[in-house]
This record gives sequence, C-alpha cells and structure tokens, in this order.
Amino acid sequence: MTLKLIDNPVPWPDGARCAVAITFDIDTDSILHLDFPDKAENMLSANSFLKYDEVAIPRILKVYAHYGIKQTFFYPAWCMERYPHLVDAILEGGHEIAAHGYLHENPNDESRDRQEYWLHPQVHRIKRVTAQDPRGRGGPAAPGRGGGVVLCF
Ligand SMILES: [Zn+2]
Repeated sequence: MTLKLIDNPVPWPDGARCAVAITFDIDTDSILHLDFPDKAENMLSANSFLKYDEVAIPRILKVYAHYGIKQTFFYPAWCMERYPHLVDAILEGGHEIAAHGYLHENPNDESRDRQEYWLHPQVHRIKRVTAQDPRGRGGPAAPGRGGGVVLCF
C-alpha cells in the first residue's frame, strides 16, 4: 500500500510524480577576491581548487546536453565578466542565468545601502554580458540569517 502524505498533489504532466530543480552556483574565485583583494591572484592553491569553471562546468553542460536537461546557473556578475566563455556556453545550451551577487558578497552582512551598491552594477553587468535580464536571484548566503532585510529585484 502506498502512503499518501499529500492530500492535494500537484498534477505533473506526462505522469511525472515530482519535479526537480537542479541549480549550480558558479562562484569560482570570487570569494577569494572578495575576502583577499590584495593577494587573491597569488593564492595559487586556493585558486586551482576554485577553478572548477574550467573543468566541471563544461562537463556538466555536456551531460545536460546529452540528457536534454535545462537549468539555472546562479552566477556572480564579476565572474561572468572574468570568464565570459562560460556565459556563452551556458546560454548556447539553452540554460538561464540568475544573479548571485556581484562578487559573492553576503547580503546578510550588508546594510541596505551596501546591498544597493552591489545590486545595481550586478544587474547592469548581467544585462550587458547576457543581453538578458537576470532570470532571478539567489543570494550568496541564505537570506535572513542576519536578521535584516535582503533586497531583491
Ligand atoms: Zn555561491
């Protein structure tokens, strides 16, 4: 006997029993540059560990192309400018890009004014690089942990 936990289940198309959202954050080395702006370039070990954009993301895109999967990539605007080849590959694969901070700054640690400082250039640069509006926003940290207001657009 099947245990029914939901009285009003969502009627998914084609007999599907659930929906799954797969998303990735492409933060690459943004956090190093945020936390260590003067020496991030020389932190070779950390940089090599964080360069998954060169290996992992292209492989993930191949897997998605093979299975016909589309997904949202959450991408700090600074990373999109620094590594534009991935932006092209993501968009060519039919995926969408959502905002993920400018330099992966944590909005919970920022005042409203500082959040606005980061938000406006983030949106502007995403539009410039992708020729599209951001498809959403995933904060670089869980919203509200700091108890303050987290700005959205
Ligand atoms: Zn992130």
